[in-house]
Amino acid sequence: MQLCQTNAELALALSAAREEGRRIGFVPTMGALHEGHLSLIRQSKADGHFTIVSVFVNPLQFGDGEDFESYPRTLGVDARLVTDTGGDVLYAPTPQAVFPEGAGLPEPDPGELGDSYEGAARPGHFAGVLKVVSRLLDLVSPDAIYLGQKDAQQVALIRRMVAEQLESGMRQPVSVVVMPTIRDDSGLAMSSRNRRLSEAELEIARTIYPALVSAAASGKDASAICELAKAALSPEARLDYLEVVDEQFEKVQGKPPAGSRLIVAANVGSVRLIDNVLIGGE
Ligand code: AMP
Repeated sequence: MQLCQTNAELALALSAAREEGRRIGFVPTMGALHEGHLSLIRQSKADGHFTIVSVFVNPLQFGDGEDFESYPRTLGVDARLVTDTGGDVLYAPTPQAVFPEGAGLPEPDPGELGDSYEGAARPGHFAGVLKVVSRLLDLVSPDAIYLGQKDAQQVALIRRMVAEQLESGMRQPVSVVVMPTIRDDSGLAMSSRNRRLSEAELEIARTIYPALVSAAASGKDASAICELAKAALSPEARLDYLEVVDEQFEKVQGKPPAGSRLIVAANVGSVRLIDNVLIGGE
């Protein structure tokens, strides 16, 4: 596994792989890697790709008062995990390498979807996500990008951005591969922020997934599904939103169409948790 900390090192590693006829798989992350991230690396390897894993805590996607400074940074451990999982390159750039001053980088517009759900709670978040993903796609030029279903709204926005950039001719085709959410034994979706939960908070957080699963399997209309899930959640989980949305992330009224998801965000202690399940089961 090669550690690249500059764009020049990354470009060299990529051109050597291309010369060998390798296809490139790309796994963007903010580090503090866990099984969720590793599942993306494993899939990229299983697809035969020369696999680039980026670790970059993107300042643009954190709002004022969010945890940019205290976001876990564990590069040494991450490097070992990427090595053990078969990743070929760990790209860990500085903010200056990703966003050089005055570079006039594209700023893809998240549109209305960027202002709802996660975007409503975190103004500017998705503009920051799309800007960094667009930039990283330019630097890596992968054949496939691997994303986790846990961040369902992010997936919807990145899919749309990639399609628009392809259509406008600014990007070569890149497959967007979405992998299922990896959970701990209790069903809690793995997240780098879970390590901040105390034992008591973990108990509360662990009510989220079973509440979603039983409500999503109920066969009821959207509003009844939400009521069921709310009733099953620990009252100590401070709900931000709980909604049924379709594949375009439009709120569903009545019977959910195929592909709809029950999505949730809740605050437990100081940690914001998000999760989602497919209506009718994965
Ligand atoms: P992050 O480091 O949180 O920005 O996440 C990097 C990538 O890993 C994103 O595509 C996430 O959706 C994905 N990811 C994070 N947690 C999980 C999980 N529990 N299961 C599957 N993918 C995940």
